[in-house]
Amino acid sequence: MPVYEYKCTECGHRFDLIQSMDAEKVAECENCGKTAKRVFSARVSIQYQGWGFNATDKLLPESSRAKRDFKQLIEKNPQLSLNMIVSLSNYLRLFVSLVEELSLKEVSSRVAKYLLDLSMKALKEGRSPNELELDLSKHQLAAKLGTISETLSRTFGKMRSKGVISVQGNRIHIRDRNALEEIASGLKV
Ligand SMILES: [Zn+2]
Repeated sequence: MPVYEYKCTECGHRFDLIQSMDAEKVAECENCGKTAKRVFSARVSIQYQGWGFNATDKLLPESSRAKRDFKQLIEKNPQLSLNMIVSLSNYLRLFVSLVEELSLKEVSSRVAKYLLDLSMKALKEGRSPNELELDLSKHQLAAKLGTISETLSRTFGKMRSKGVISVQGNRIHIRDRNALEEIASGLKV
């Protein structure tokens, strides 16, 4: 889950909260208990300073003082490297779940749009707008929607379990058009 920054409307106190992306954008101020609003911020929660943590860092030559100091620090203090591994692992997990959440939301929206397009097409051709037949294989459809079959299957699975559609082979039945439109507009998965 991503980390969001909040700012209190009363006292101006700033603090971070780890929340799901669907969470309310208001919270109680840690300081005074009044309403704090989410601040739009591209800032990442954990920021490491110094050599070795910037994407542009190159390996320093062996003789480099900075590298020697860094090595000595770790040798003298093994707990430091353990802490670093734990922090970096948490950091990585945060990113993986964020990417997953974002891509699933995006793919769901594209899948829903595609189904609504097919539905319109069916209606124009005088067929039922709720009974669709996929004109592409799952693999081809995934490629067309800029994803992979696994993610497409997960998306269909999620829509099916929420009663939005039912799937039988390459036939799709739209059961909840409003929900499908909400997913298409990126409101929910
Ligand atoms: Zn406050």
